[in-house]
Amino acid sequence: MKFEELNLAPAILKAVLEQGYETPTPIQAQAIPAVLEGHDLLAGAQTGTGKTAAFTLPMLHRLSQGTAPKSKFGGKGIRALVLTPTRELAAQVEESVRDYGKYLDINSTVVFGGVGMNPQIDRIKRGVDVLVATPGRLLDLQQQGFLDLSTVEILVLDEADRMLDMGFIHDVKKVLALVPKDKQSLLFSATFSDEIRELANTLLKNPQSIQV
Ligand code: AMP
Repeated sequence: MKFEELNLAPAILKAVLEQGYETPTPIQAQAIPAVLEGHDLLAGAQTGTGKTAAFTLPMLHRLSQGTAPKSKFGGKGIRALVLTPTRELAAQVEESVRDYGKYLDINSTVVFGGVGMNPQIDRIKRGVDVLVATPGRLLDLQQQGFLDLSTVEILVLDEADRMLDMGFIHDVKKVLALVPKDKQSLLFSATFSDEIRELANTLLKNPQSIQV
């Protein structure tokens, strides 16, 4: 299979081919069509399988088809939210969003703890389409009134098992209560404990399941 066959927007395909990728990895070949069709997704995949592009590429495609809603603060509203367990992963994912989205009119930023909040607040105020975040800092920003998550259309939980291992279950549940019920949700995890399955059951609606 070739990337050309996946029906991604030409601007996204161009960015992917510039990365030097020749063929989609198995997780990409399965996840991309499912997400483009609007399905929720339950994906079992380890790091190194190409999972980041598996959710980023179809997410960007779907965002490129619509227009940005207004947030309650008047600016452009957040359309996609990606939660990751660590700041390193958050930074990597946001870099991928920027690389694959460089020919689109879509912008992104990343927020995580351990650094000053003010630059993050300023950036969010200027309007962001895709927000990549670790759960704790995301909630801090929300609780202080700087974040409106009511316009989120796509939610991704990346490395959900690590997120729970790190004790983020309550934070993740709080975030789920802040985003609209009617959205597309994608859950990626390397392992599936009862706790992950329960989280998947609460979050995902008729998900397509993929295991690589
Ligand atoms: P990930 O599993 O998302 O952490 O990706 C692992 C590595 O594989 C990253 O360095 C990606 O740049 C690379 N990668 C992702 N998709 C492809 C692909 N289709 N072909 C070649 N390399 C890829």
